[in-house]
Amino acid sequence: MKNTYNNNFIEKIISKDLKNKIHKKIRTRFPPEPNGYLHIGHAKSIYLNFYLAKKFNGRFHLRFDDTNPIKEKISYVKAIKKDLTWLGCIWDGSEKYTSRYFNYLYEYAIELIKKGLAYVDKLKKNEIKKYRGTLIKPGTNSPYRNHTIEENLFLFKKMKNGEFSEGNACLRAKIDMKSSFIVMRDPILYRIIFSNHHQTTNTWCIYPTYDFAHCISDAIEHITHSLCTLEFQDNRRLYNWILDNISIKYKPKQYEFSKLNIEYSVLSKRKLKTIIEKKIVNNWDDPRLLTISGLKRRGYTPESIKNFCMKIGITKQENSVQLSLLESCIRSDLNVRAPRIMAILDPIKIIIYNMNDSQKEIITVPNHPNNKKMGNRKYIFSKEIYIDRSDFNEKKSNNNIKLSYGTFIRLRYAYVITVTEIKKDNFGKIVCLICKYDKNTFRKNPTKYRISGIIHWIAKENILNAVFNIYKPLFRIKKPDLEKTYLPFINENSLVKKNGIVEKSIIFNSKNNFYQFERVGYFCIDKDSLDKLNVKNHIITFNRIVTLKERKNNKLLKKQQR
Ligand code: ATP
Ligand code: MG
Repeated sequence: MKNTYNNNFIEKIISKDLKNKIHKKIRTRFPPEPNGYLHIGHAKSIYLNFYLAKKFNGRFHLRFDDTNPIKEKISYVKAIKKDLTWLGCIWDGSEKYTSRYFNYLYEYAIELIKKGLAYVDKLKKNEIKKYRGTLIKPGTNSPYRNHTIEENLFLFKKMKNGEFSEGNACLRAKIDMKSSFIVMRDPILYRIIFSNHHQTTNTWCIYPTYDFAHCISDAIEHITHSLCTLEFQDNRRLYNWILDNISIKYKPKQYEFSKLNIEYSVLSKRKLKTIIEKKIVNNWDDPRLLTISGLKRRGYTPESIKNFCMKIGITKQENSVQLSLLESCIRSDLNVRAPRIMAILDPIKIIIYNMNDSQKEIITVPNHPNNKKMGNRKYIFSKEIYIDRSDFNEKKSNNNIKLSYGTFIRLRYAYVITVTEIKKDNFGKIVCLICKYDKNTFRKNPTKYRISGIIHWIAKENILNAVFNIYKPLFRIKKPDLEKTYLPFINENSLVKKNGIVEKSIIFNSKNNFYQFERVGYFCIDKDSLDKLNVKNHIITFNRIVTLKERKNNKLLKKQQR
């Protein structure tokens, strides 16, 4: 994929503005509404704003766009700050809140009323909608549109004083009900909401709309380049109209870029909330969600998310990014950094009959095949070992790369073995393989054997029981967002739990909580389990971050989703 990040079209605009001395220093902002947790789409916006501010030695603000107390919560404010910090995108100065500007916003609303550019409308919500018209039908003026300035000032104060009930009055800009841009058909500037606000408690019962508050907040903060996603393209007219008609001096400019969509997922907070409320996933940080906290719990690193944002670039084209691109970013990060260990998701016992019961060998194995600095660890080899059931085949097939009668398999870092007997229980399930090892094959491949493969294994003395969470995409189709309802396309098998084993010699590292299980995939210890590592008899739970190799094709993906 072409790198469209460096010198993307917004960066070019900024370079030009600085060259032409339109601004001395730039200022960007990330303006989340605290009505849910951040997702990877937000990360795209965060990195862009942060990157530009750093690149041009400017300032980067975090501003909570908190204009709707019904949907917002202080816990979301906290979670958003935590996510930005984890991503490494620290904002300059203290965080800002639109609610801190409510007094100014109120005064600017009064100014518009005084200029005859805003009026109090008493139409009901559904009537306003009807009067607004459609893309092909112009709107109609509200019967309240011609109130005098005095009447409007009086009514707006009444709104502020709580003398109207919710839905019985709102403040609207007086622009043009016939405009071909629906946003310009007398947009609502203030509405009545009787609800406690997480910052201003019960000071206000009228709240500015996004459109009214956003441009003014940008101007108050001297944001030079106000970056948002393409769905706000039409709103840019209103953004400029408001700033042009009030006495504020600073005039920021809005630029739009395309939203991030990722295959097999939905990103809107509203949809994510529904998925959580319906208990399809556990919470906002469920590792199956592409929320920042979900990705963190899944084992993604901030570096991999940043790398992903750089790779997808910044354009004006709407598209859906392949999930495999996100996966390849974490895979290449972990390939370099993750220590290797052995784990077996579906263990089967092996008894090496030509070893003594007490025989135990300590061998030295590297923690990373290509990075000596990561050191070595001691690994036990003994009479009873475990391998993965999938590495064994009862019947030998033509291109058999597995252990079966007549094949020779190398145990990673150890000896060559072959099966001599298969033990089954009363139901015919294989419970144990009796094998023979050749003691002259320690890390050697004598020509007398045709070695069909190298497999991972763990000795009985080195076992730790573990649960493995195997995650698959949350949706069965690539673009659930394009469907009328996305819920029927949920993948019922997005989480499979497996009971297996991991080597005891694992070195717990809460800072770099990631491991490559050799031949299996990249895993991390789940957050809840990490907290309980010292608890007696705690069975450790790992999350699969990503498989070792990219899924070859969609057929395979479909199979995995079943
Ligand atoms: P959602 O639809 O997920 O609720 P939102 O746009 O309502 O998203 P906000 O909290 O208002 O969420 O967004 C903060 C910023 O993040 C906005 O500037 C918005 O344009 C940007 N943003 C939101 N979703 C995406 C996305 N998928 N890709 C890129 N930027 C996004
Ligand atoms: Mg929003």
